[in-house]
Amino acid sequence: MLLVVLTWSLLALGVGVLAYRQGENSIEEQARQRLVELSSKLEIELDKYRTLPKVLTLHPTLGLALTNADASSLEAANKLLSRYNQYLSSDVVYLVDTRGITLASSNWQSPESFVGSDYRFRPYFQQALGGVAGSYFALGTVSGRRGYYFSYPVLQNEEVTGVLVIKVALSALEDSWLGDPFDFLLTDIHGVVFYSSYPGWNYQTLAALAPQVETQLLAQKQYGSGPIATLTKSSHMQKLLDEPGLRLEKDGRQVAFLQVHKDMSPVGWRLFALAPVSLIHQYVIWSLLLYSLLFVLVYLISFSWRRTVDARKQLAAINERLEHRVEERTAELSQSNEQLKEIIDKYRQTELTLKRTQNELIQAGKLAMLGEMAASINHELNQPLAAMRIYTETLQMLAKRGETRAVSDNADEILKLNKMMAKIIGQYKLFARKSAGKTGPVSVAETLSASLAILDSKIQKMGIHIEPQGLTETLQVMADAVPLEQVIINLLNNALQAVSDHPTPQIGLRVEVQDQQVVLLVEDNGPGFADDELDKVFEPFYTTKGQGLGLGLTISKRIVESFNGQIHAENRTRGGARFVVSLNRHMTEESL
Ligand code: ADP
Repeated sequence: MLLVVLTWSLLALGVGVLAYRQGENSIEEQARQRLVELSSKLEIELDKYRTLPKVLTLHPTLGLALTNADASSLEAANKLLSRYNQYLSSDVVYLVDTRGITLASSNWQSPESFVGSDYRFRPYFQQALGGVAGSYFALGTVSGRRGYYFSYPVLQNEEVTGVLVIKVALSALEDSWLGDPFDFLLTDIHGVVFYSSYPGWNYQTLAALAPQVETQLLAQKQYGSGPIATLTKSSHMQKLLDEPGLRLEKDGRQVAFLQVHKDMSPVGWRLFALAPVSLIHQYVIWSLLLYSLLFVLVYLISFSWRRTVDARKQLAAINERLEHRVEERTAELSQSNEQLKEIIDKYRQTELTLKRTQNELIQAGKLAMLGEMAASINHELNQPLAAMRIYTETLQMLAKRGETRAVSDNADEILKLNKMMAKIIGQYKLFARKSAGKTGPVSVAETLSASLAILDSKIQKMGIHIEPQGLTETLQVMADAVPLEQVIINLLNNALQAVSDHPTPQIGLRVEVQDQQVVLLVEDNGPGFADDELDKVFEPFYTTKGQGLGLGLTISKRIVESFNGQIHAENRTRGGARFVVSLNRHMTEESL
């Protein structure tokens, strides 16, 4: 801030000096212009009176008045002069005889009439009497009003018989300087002010007068009869003219002026234009104010510009930091993305391996189950095999006897047995095959009957009757036929084992249709589960059987879940276990 104030002060000093010079020049220039205007105006007015009235002296009325000087010729002259005065817009026009006495005057009827006045002492009278036109500035002795006097000799037979005088007020100047910021003054050959814009300076001299000049002026009563005061302390007019400044008393105080002057054509006249120095001060003050305003403006603009630049810099820095961080974060993210991809890949591979393992497990479970059922398969096939042997032996005997008809009947029976065996083997073959691994519509009725068929001999052996409840032929679920069969067989097999020791074993197989779901329920009247067992039965390798693997339910659960279904175990209220399998129903046109 101190620097700003210091800069402002230094510049203000420079501006002040420059403004002063500039103001001085411009005001001086203005004053000179005004001077030219005023002087030319004055010249024009003076010229009017210098040339024109010469013609007027030729009028015979004037000559008559001068020679006769009787009442009638003087009256005629008075009237003529009155007309002249009006025509010339002058103050007074009057006729003086060779003695210097006024014979006729335009103001002959007014109380201030010049008629009878003696103007012998006036230089203009003397000049005209000498035969040349004269001019002179003086205060009127009668009116006391200042005026410019033009005199012309009245010639009769080439002899001066009188003098025609025109007194002019020089009002053209007064009109011009009214309201002007400058002061003006007109001085005579001696430097006496006889006409000025400030009346207080009139009839005083600018530089001290030589004593003989003053005496002469007093004798001529040019500026009244009093002594002529000096307006400045200067004693040499030329010295005063060489100075650019001038100090004069105005309205009771000393005022400093800048002066310019111009010589006028009446010999020795000088017109001064005085510009108050305060005008320059005003100019300087205005310039300083304008400069200060500009300074503040420039300061504010540069300040706000600096702030904008700073803000931009900060913003750029923040941006850079941000970009850097974004880059870092992007790098981190892409790295973690890569890691994630790797993890996903590994996960997929693991999933694939798991699925493969699961499929293998399912297959293994199935084969284990078949192995477990080997005894009953053996039993199932042994029966028809024994029958076939008997039929074949009978057939050989009948053939020997030639009983063709009986041979044929026997062969039919053998064929029937053969078909039966093929059917039994076919079921196991079907069950043993690997699943295609695709989920699609599967008939519930067909699955249940295939499952029951595989366990048929075991069921019959135990003397149990299993009749599926709530089954409709068209009912279908979204599953894969072989694995679903494996689940049902596993549940039924477990149930068969659970009721093996029961005196009246019972196994129920129920189908419930619930809107979009098909629920299969396998229940028995075996021992059911202990409380803590319900959570464990689906865990791998959990078994309560001496030769069990503990994988049957684990595999079943996986299979059901692969169909987007659910399986859970519960205890029946009246004793025994219940397995509930929920599967998604496949909506066929019939089922809808
Ligand atoms: P495993 O039959 O080889 O033991 P599972 O996974 O099929 O393997 O069965 C696990 C265990 O669940 C069985 O050992 C048995 O204790 C129990 N369990 C299964 N089904 C029944 C049932 N219907 N009643 C009582 N307990 C059962």
